[in-house]
Amino acid sequence: MYQSVLADGRLYELLLRIDQDLAGSAQAEGCRWCGGRLDRADYARKPRGLPPELGAEHTVRLSLCCAAEGCRRRTTPPSVRFLGRRVYVGAAVLGITALRAGAQRAEVRALRAWLGVSTRTLVRWRRWWRAVFAASAFWRGARGQLRTPVPLRALPGALLQRFAGDVTDRLIAGLRFLAPITTAAGAM
Ligand SMILES: [Zn+2]
Repeated sequence: MYQSVLADGRLYELLLRIDQDLAGSAQAEGCRWCGGRLDRADYARKPRGLPPELGAEHTVRLSLCCAAEGCRRRTTPPSVRFLGRRVYVGAAVLGITALRAGAQRAEVRALRAWLGVSTRTLVRWRRWWRAVFAASAFWRGARGQLRTPVPLRALPGALLQRFAGDVTDRLIAGLRFLAPITTAAGAM
C-alpha cells in the first residue's frame, strides 16, 4: 500500500509544489531579524527513498538568505519533503512509521527492505515519535487542534487516521501538519 504510494513520482511533484509555496510565503514575509529582503539560497541534499527517475530539483532543500549587508541570516522555510536532517525523505519516514509494528508486520518488512532502512534505524525513528516528538512544544500545542485525541503509543499512524482521504492524501496532510518542525526555529 505505502510502497506504491512512495514509488509514485507524482507524490513528490506535488510535495515539491507545496514546498515552493511554503518557501514563497516565507520569502514574502522578509527577514525575521531585520525585515530585509530574502533571496533564494537553496542547498543540495542527498535524500534517500526517492524514485530514481525524479530530477535533481527533488534533492534540493529550498532555503532563503537575508540580502541585507550585516545580517545575511538564513531563513529555512517549512518543508513537506525533508523532515529535519534525516537522510530519508519525510514521506518515507512518516509512511513506514505510520504502519503498526504488530498488525502490519509483513508490510513493514517489505517496505523496510524496499527503502533499504535498517532495523536499527526504524527502531530509532519509532522511538523518536514517542520520546522526542511526543514531548515537543509543537505536539503539545498541535494535538489540541485535533478533534479526536491521538494516543502517544499510536504515533504517527493514529495521527494520519485523523486526516481525510486516501493513503496519499493522508500522507500529504500529515507532512503539512508536521512542516513547522522542519524550520530552524521548530527543529528538535
Ligand atoms: Zn536580515
